[in-house]
Amino acid sequence: MRTNYHTHCQFCDGRATAEKMAEAAFAAGYQVLGFSSHSPLPFPSEGNMELSRLGEYKAEILRLAAQWRDRGLEILLGLEIEWVPGLSSPRDEVYAKAGLDFSIGSVHFVDLPGAGRFAVDFGQDDFESHAAAFTGDGVGKAVYRDYYEQVGRLIEAGGFDILGHFDLVKKNNDADASGKGRWFDESSPGYLEAAIGAMRAMRGSDIVAEINVGGMSRGKVTSPYPSLALLRELREQGTRITFSADAHAPEHLGKHLDAARDIARAAGYDSVAVLSKGSWSEQGIEEF
Ligand SMILES: [Zn+2]
Ligand SMILES: [Zn+2]
Repeated sequence: MRTNYHTHCQFCDGRATAEKMAEAAFAAGYQVLGFSSHSPLPFPSEGNMELSRLGEYKAEILRLAAQWRDRGLEILLGLEIEWVPGLSSPRDEVYAKAGLDFSIGSVHFVDLPGAGRFAVDFGQDDFESHAAAFTGDGVGKAVYRDYYEQVGRLIEAGGFDILGHFDLVKKNNDADASGKGRWFDESSPGYLEAAIGAMRAMRGSDIVAEINVGGMSRGKVTSPYPSLALLRELREQGTRITFSADAHAPEHLGKHLDAARDIARAAGYDSVAVLSKGSWSEQGIEEF
């Protein structure tokens, strides 16, 4: 069964309507498609849904679910919910009441002295201008430390099914094969310690981690999130995985599936977690 629980559309920063994304998913051979618009935020953010549109979003996804039910595509209602300390959490009442089929918990924002709050995955220019305003020493280290601290706190707070793009913080790092990047070294003990420290909070929980190829589809990185080194650690501690397109356009659906399968196998996985008809189960990678 081919599934994808990470799909954006025009309710947030996706480039196509939900209807077009459903058609593209069906054409790309998916049997389950979960929509996961970026959740509303209490401060201006271009890429996030307005709170006033949540009802309309829900109605549209449920309409498509009914339309496709007997045509071979199960459509699920979800959200990619932001973790911003004290401001936004998957635990917020508005999401508990939204009747979601599933949710993704994601960290996009860091908040640093002088630099303020910014999303680590916006363009390089945006990253650069915030980095320039940082008033401490070693901005790269400060960025990944804050990012992974927030990932750890998100996991501890819980209330979501899937953890989004574990190492998104590397998106603007442009690292070479050895891990050395523009802002930090992804193979350095300090970086790995911060990342592995955050994932420990997932041990013994039901949270599923993504193998996310969204950055590849957008030409920002050459391998999926998370890196093989981090995925091996997740495997080691017993965390399950799902394959995510993180699709922002119809052509992103069905892309880079080989890269997802390859890195999963290289990390020692032989199955992926699948949510269908209200429950999670494990399915062999070859069936995906
Ligand atoms: Zn995201
Ligand atoms: Zn996303």
